[in-house]
Amino acid sequence: MTSPDQSPATVMVTGASGYIAGWIVKDLLDAGHTVHATVRNPDNAGSVAHLQAIAAQAPGTLKLFKADLLDAQSFDAAMQGCDIVMHTASPFVLTGFKSAHEALVRPAVEGTRHVLEAVNRNASVKRVIVTSSVAAIYGDNADLARSGKAAFSEDDWNTTSSETHNPYQYSKLAAEREAWAIHSQQERWDMATINPGMVYGPSLTNASKSASIDALCQIGDGRLRTGVPDLRFGVVDVRDVARAHLLAAFSPDASGRYILVNQDISMLGIARILRGHFGKAYPFPRLRAPKLIAWAFGPLMGPVTRQFIRLNVGHKIRFDNRRSKALGVQYRPLADTLTEHFQQALDDGLVRKRG
Ligand code: NAP
Repeated sequence: MTSPDQSPATVMVTGASGYIAGWIVKDLLDAGHTVHATVRNPDNAGSVAHLQAIAAQAPGTLKLFKADLLDAQSFDAAMQGCDIVMHTASPFVLTGFKSAHEALVRPAVEGTRHVLEAVNRNASVKRVIVTSSVAAIYGDNADLARSGKAAFSEDDWNTTSSETHNPYQYSKLAAEREAWAIHSQQERWDMATINPGMVYGPSLTNASKSASIDALCQIGDGRLRTGVPDLRFGVVDVRDVARAHLLAAFSPDASGRYILVNQDISMLGIARILRGHFGKAYPFPRLRAPKLIAWAFGPLMGPVTRQFIRLNVGHKIRFDNRRSKALGVQYRPLADTLTEHFQQALDDGLVRKRG
């Protein structure tokens, strides 16, 4: 493998219409690579027009393919002639579904299996990068104290999520486990996983349903004005996540898991940064909601159950990001990530401009 900025490669990106994938595709095209982008519906201009516009300005070449995670053979055509596969597609929804298994777990796990079985059938592929999550590292914040560690590292695995408790986290855990199991049965291709925390930062598309987009809007549109629970999580800029995918794909020695977290922060911490930049006219939360009533608030980082509150609110969280830094990731300042993301939410009309 070569550096991201050298010899052009052919790279397949699954779920290319997504929030994170948009930046990955842009970085690949800007570096002159050929991108085989899979989307569920290539005829839906709303989900691919931004990719075509980027390609028109970039030295690389974009080819769109139709593929669905639940269709076992659908990735073969896109994978032909690819050196590298980046598998980002997976549902990132936290609420609003009837069956967690059907909405989250089945597409995540079967999709990973279908993509990697296609890799096994396509001899040109030498490396696979899977977009996993810190959700595969831990389930609840309380897991950290129980582990006796000062910070989660790539050695840790989520042992507490299930289809009924934190089902999104469980879908990411089960999908990453599946990926490593399939990888271990062969020696032709190597693999790395990128495990980001909560991803924020400007989006190249306003068609994404990523929970990242709504999560930041909630903090600024008044839904949380009466207060937020003391909930901490790890955050990272979407552009740093994309960069990590390219570094893992093209650095000769990259392998294994990479936590992508710039720093941990509370919801009030995010509100403080946004208020400092955008001013008091916006209803950013100022108060910490008592634990007992926190469950009455809407979905924050997942379906808010009493169990979720007990195991997450008021518990600290910390991540060891040294492996990602050694890979070459240089985290951009969190304030830039948050303010640029919120500015875009204002410009796109997702949050009403005030003041
Ligand atoms: P996103 O914008 O919703 O992207 C998810 C992509 O998955 C969409 O492009 C969607 O394609 C595709 N997808 C969903 N179900 C599919 C199916 N059945 N068949 C084919 N494609 C399907 O969300 P994102 O935030 O960019 O997430 C991308 C990846 O990063 C996911 O694996 C997610 O778990 C992971 N991740 C995200 C975060 C975060 O904070 N955003 C943090 C850690 C990890 P369509 O356009 O066809 O719907």
